[in-house]
Amino acid sequence: MACPDVQNTGKEMQRLVRELYPICRSITGNGVRETLKALSNHIPLEIREVASGTRVFDWTVPKEWNIKRAYVKDPEGQEILDFQRSNLHVLNYSIPIDKTVSLEELREHLYSVPEHPDWIPYRTSYYKENWGFCLTHNQLQGLSTGEYEVLIDASLEDGYLTYGEYCLKGESDREILISAHICHPSLANDNLSGIALAVFLAKSLKELSLRYSYRFLLIPGTIGSITWLSLNETEAFRIKHGLVLTCVGDPGKVTYKKSRRGDTEIDRAVTQVLRDSGDPFEIREFSPYGYDERQFCSPGFNLPVGCFMRTSHGEFPEYHTSADDLSFVRPECLADSFLKCQAVLRILEQNKIYVTLNPKCEPQLGKRGLYGQIGGQADGKLRELAMLWVLNLSDGNHSLLDIAEKSGLEFRMIRNAAEALMQHDLLAESIP
Ligand SMILES: [Zn+2]
Repeated sequence: MACPDVQNTGKEMQRLVRELYPICRSITGNGVRETLKALSNHIPLEIREVASGTRVFDWTVPKEWNIKRAYVKDPEGQEILDFQRSNLHVLNYSIPIDKTVSLEELREHLYSVPEHPDWIPYRTSYYKENWGFCLTHNQLQGLSTGEYEVLIDASLEDGYLTYGEYCLKGESDREILISAHICHPSLANDNLSGIALAVFLAKSLKELSLRYSYRFLLIPGTIGSITWLSLNETEAFRIKHGLVLTCVGDPGKVTYKKSRRGDTEIDRAVTQVLRDSGDPFEIREFSPYGYDERQFCSPGFNLPVGCFMRTSHGEFPEYHTSADDLSFVRPECLADSFLKCQAVLRILEQNKIYVTLNPKCEPQLGKRGLYGQIGGQADGKLRELAMLWVLNLSDGNHSLLDIAEKSGLEFRMIRNAAEALMQHDLLAESIP
């Protein structure tokens, strides 16, 4: 059971998810601005605007999309779909339309989920100009022949792509990247949960003295990371470790998708945390399908960035539908994701290499009070074992994470052992 503080964090994270849920976001536009403004109440975000038409590698920053209202009226003049009731009703990035169409023509622009006839799907058409509406399959089947009035009062014009960035300075200018996408409208797990986790991790780091610098990116999916990488190529190579956060509030087990390199410190740190947790988890190899890790791990960058999720996108039926709502995201699952990511960052901060100051045979731990200490018997034995591992492998070539992996002990035990040995002048940090 998580401690009250953490339970509270889970509730606060869910409160943020609830606050952002009604906003109609997309890859550009006022919904993103409104979201970033709300997040600025939690962390001092820098809000950046990149003009439509800007070339970013092989892509172009698109026109900005904004929507005021949208509806469909049936042959009797009854409003049967209303954007105000759910922003999922409109195909995201729809071009403006105001006309009367036959049911036959309308059907070509309607999207539903037949296997879940009560759910509204989430559909987009960012890079192909189109208009459309999303509705429940039940509603689709109930439509009668006749003329329908369709209105989408939207604009697709030259404007900006907006994203948020927050940098925290640490001792080193080598960075840890935390990235989450901010382009989905009223969907809770994908992607509001990731936003909430990024923001609360940032808040938790603010007061600490840090070894690494941190960069938080809150960007529209795909085009946002491509834009950031294109405009910040030099900065990108400072990234030493990175996590893309998404789908972190559902009750499923944690799934971690490794970086393209597959054996980097972030991959190993996440694996260690999940192993130490005792909870079920799954580690997956990298694949060029998913979220912004695809761009960070493209071969020209090949950054050590993995993707931290609970149930992976597309593997829960609620994914990209109206059923990914506030009830699907649970405070205790948000809190659990928060704790695990915090533990990953702690390992990265603490994973250093040490050298034993007594390399010829084992030092006598008993005379220093380090052996056979009173305390929980089992725990005491493990503490001694951890000290023996640290003393033996601290030859300047093994980090604490190496030692945790080789010993099968929890990272926390290895770290505590190193701390105790240092207090007794048996161990010192290795100067690289
Ligand atoms: Zn998505």
